[in-house]
Amino acid sequence: MEKKIVILGAGESGAGAAILAKTKGYNTFVSDMSMIQDKYKQQLDKYDVAWEEGKHTEALILDADEVVKSPGIPNEAPIIQKLIAKGTPIISEIEFAGRYTNAKMICITGSNGKTTTTSLIYHIFESAGLNVGLAGNIGKSLALQVALEDHDYYVIELSSFQLDNMYQFRANIAILMNITPDHLDRYADSMQNYIDAKFRITQNQTPEDAFIFWNDDPIIKKELEKYGLKAHLYPFSALKENNSIAYVENHEVTITEPIAFNMEQEKLALTGQHNLYNSLAAGISANVAGITRDDIRQALSDFKGVEHRLEHVTRVKGVDFINDSKATNVNSCWYALQSMKTKTVLIIGGKDKGNDYTEIEDLVKRKCSGLVYLGLHNEKLHEFFDRLGLPVVDIQTGMKDAVDAAFKMAKKGETVLLSPCCASFDLFNSYEDRGDQFKKYVREL
Ligand code: ADP
Repeated sequence: MEKKIVILGAGESGAGAAILAKTKGYNTFVSDMSMIQDKYKQQLDKYDVAWEEGKHTEALILDADEVVKSPGIPNEAPIIQKLIAKGTPIISEIEFAGRYTNAKMICITGSNGKTTTTSLIYHIFESAGLNVGLAGNIGKSLALQVALEDHDYYVIELSSFQLDNMYQFRANIAILMNITPDHLDRYADSMQNYIDAKFRITQNQTPEDAFIFWNDDPIIKKELEKYGLKAHLYPFSALKENNSIAYVENHEVTITEPIAFNMEQEKLALTGQHNLYNSLAAGISANVAGITRDDIRQALSDFKGVEHRLEHVTRVKGVDFINDSKATNVNSCWYALQSMKTKTVLIIGGKDKGNDYTEIEDLVKRKCSGLVYLGLHNEKLHEFFDRLGLPVVDIQTGMKDAVDAAFKMAKKGETVLLSPCCASFDLFNSYEDRGDQFKKYVREL
């Protein structure tokens, strides 16, 4: 009998999984509690996949032999609870797609730096002429690419939610950037559950595979032993230490394994300490994949960066403008400030997620020449930063006024940095919307 597969959630990953299931001959049904975007409806219709929106028809869903769940649906959702009670296998789109390709998989996870590192690796592989696809949280669905294109390599950004429902999938190259508390609300408030989810990126790895990780991360260091990893380990760190195989020495980015590699740190396209880690991880993965030194050097130095992440917008009358709208927590802003080479007017604020600004206090004192608070509720910012004695402007109206105020404050040779430490939802639709508005008003100055 035809195997019945149900896909829950018809976004990028769900629609892709449905098309792959259909082309592999499954009896396929898609169900989404919300409205499905038109472009995904069209995709599903084109491949004659049955779907429903705004509801979950239990009889159909509980009849499935296997369910592919969108990473956005929490385990607590009633329909998932019922499937678990029934013993129906629930997998992620990546797990499902992995069954139908022999491509080499390069997978990236971590609390911060995933998108940047994933994009950089893709850039290196593509520039080197490899047949590579970009998938996961970023780019097109892996399943859709496996169904319609199939590449030799996939560079895949994995969130912990995707990793949760992966079982047999094997990453040929796995990268773990760092682990800091995040999304604990989805892990029964247990840091250990979150750590275990991240380490799932190494499951099923064999001695032929590579595990690349940040050697200075206290959590990774502490946890590494207990997983008994079989993969070849490639630890990297800022400076040469312990067993790290990649680091910076005498201003040279140095990778010692598997092939000796070096380049001047000055030549890296991405600046700042956090981006050094991202460049090291990307360089090691390309090295492991056998890409030549020259190709790696070239791509690490001509990468254009990722939108909304320390993105240089333009210079107006000697003032540089940098869009780091993706910095939605204090730690990201720390890295941004740390990488500033001139005095900086910082635009900060938005929807506070219980921030403790102590982490950036020293950097603000040393690097900032002024602060623009941008948000509907700026009381906490006043309370914390006003005592530092810097010029401060309070803006509750929107981005245009914030850009004008920051430009007025900044002297020639200084930088205006949007790195808000906060979510954007008080005044904007998303961090992308916030960054786009920033760029628009900067360009109109
Ligand atoms: P993610 O996809 O994991 O959210 P991004 O690459 O989008 O990460 O970067 C988001 C923000 O996190 C950046 O604006 C930067 O401030 C910070 N960041 C980037 N890389 C790192 C890193 N390796 N370690 C710590 N913070 C980082």
